Amino acid sequence: MPNMNPKKVPMPEQEPSVRNKNFEEVALGYTAEMAVEEAGRCLHCKNHPCVAGCPVEVKIPDFIQKIAEQDFEGAYQIIAETSSLPAVCGRVCPQESQCEGRCVRGIKNEPVGIGRLERFVADWHREHSSGNRPVVPSNGHRVAIVGAGPASLTCAGDLRAMGYDVTVFEALHVPGVVLVYGIPEFRLPKSIVAYEVNGLEQAGVEILTDRVIGRSLSIDELFEEGYEAVFIGSGAGLPNFMGIEGESYVGVYSANEYLTRINLMKAYKEGYDTPIAQANKAVVVGGGNVAMDAARSAKRMGADVTIVYRRSLEELPARKEEVHHAEEEGIVFNLLTNPVRIHRDQNGHVAAIECVKMKLGEPDASGRRRPEEIPGSNFIVPCDTVIMAIGTSPNPLIRHTTAGLDATRKGCLVADETGATTRKGVFAGGDAVTGAATVILAMGAGKTAAQSIDRYIKGQN
Ligand code: FAD
Ligand code: SF4
Ligand code: SF4
Repeated sequence: MPNMNPKKVPMPEQEPSVRNKNFEEVALGYTAEMAVEEAGRCLHCKNHPCVAGCPVEVKIPDFIQKIAEQDFEGAYQIIAETSSLPAVCGRVCPQESQCEGRCVRGIKNEPVGIGRLERFVADWHREHSSGNRPVVPSNGHRVAIVGAGPASLTCAGDLRAMGYDVTVFEALHVPGVVLVYGIPEFRLPKSIVAYEVNGLEQAGVEILTDRVIGRSLSIDELFEEGYEAVFIGSGAGLPNFMGIEGESYVGVYSANEYLTRINLMKAYKEGYDTPIAQANKAVVVGGGNVAMDAARSAKRMGADVTIVYRRSLEELPARKEEVHHAEEEGIVFNLLTNPVRIHRDQNGHVAAIECVKMKLGEPDASGRRRPEEIPGSNFIVPCDTVIMAIGTSPNPLIRHTTAGLDATRKGCLVADETGATTRKGVFAGGDAVTGAATVILAMGAGKTAAQSIDRYIKGQN
């Protein structure tokens, strides 16, 4: 008999008033008993709609069945057939719009906690396995991978498992950069990303950091060096700004820069001399996951934080869980509000942000109701820090230094459904192609490209 409890087994968490002052992980993870109890809520539906909601089609009912049988390693092996970063996905996938969004139990009650179960299994495996991955013998073919984000790491792992000699070229000094600098420690501990990256290196993937493709080496030079195919997974790391007055004042950051200083360069830790302005009152502009991460980081740095977002709570694109956590931690949401100008003090430092109230009009091309300014509704929010989290675009460096690579008007590389770009032998996927999206979609693209590169090198394309 399935466990018909209408609610998920609750996730143990740090108390909001404690966690908003530290960078430790907020959600503490299920125990084995909790995981088995939650697994009991799955109905093992014949047509398993949850699987269709997962971009890499994890065999969800099968791995949940293994948990119910307390065969946690068996559960891990099932997930690992299709997902190379389950500890990451179990924590950061937008499950409510993917696997859990399709779960039959979710029609009347709460869906099965698929993400929580995936996280449990991946953590269990990490704590109990030897960590050694088999090294597949080389097939003598070399592939170069640009960037070390989830798209590239997945592509690299899959190609290595097929025998390819894979070299990853990463611009910054650590692999898995966005997972390290972007998503903060309190949502995704760095040790988890490091574990996954170590596993790839043990399997024989070579990762070279501090290599900017387009500067240190061009795509053409990679081919000259003997790589037979190249995968570009360079992401979409170029921050967008609004173009309003005052965005160059001291105290205005892009969310990328702010999060990099805190997460990657450890500005929050004693003993590190990374400069960062100590905000007393920070305003974060935007409503996505990046905005939530920036706001919750600023809160942990001791600031009073307000999020300014031009639509309503319903349209807020961030994961529901992150919004809920942000609210619990004392972050104020100023909705239906749009900044129009930033004011400064006599030293050129941010002093306030001027906003205007909005109302929702007719739906736009995205299907969401278009926000419209209410004339004369301007008001001032005093602050000493403004963090812009209104989206990112792909960096143009690679396409500007590579002949034959077509891009869209928004600067995304053009690639077909196999990941092939308009340049022979060059494949691409993840945010570099789609624009800013999600970890699991990037991983799915990396997987598809690995298959296509294999076919291309074998002359089967
Ligand atoms: P990226 O992860 O961006 O990796 C690209 C890599 O390429 C980077 O390491 C970069 O340094 C490197 N690179 C770029 N140019 C070059 C070059 N010329 N030469 C060499 N290397 C280069 N997604 C979720 O699913 N859930 C979340 O909760 C979530 N929260 C997020 C929070 C933040 C703060 C951010 C920034 C993103 C978040 N995302 C989230 C989005 C997710 O991280 C991205 O969609 C995903 O990382 C994209 O993967 P990718 O491999 O395509 O690119
Ligand atoms: Fe759900 Fe993400 Fe796991 Fe797929 S990878 S089952 S979408 S948590
Ligand atoms: Fe289990 Fe929900 Fe998937 Fe049905 S839809 S198999 S209940 S997880």
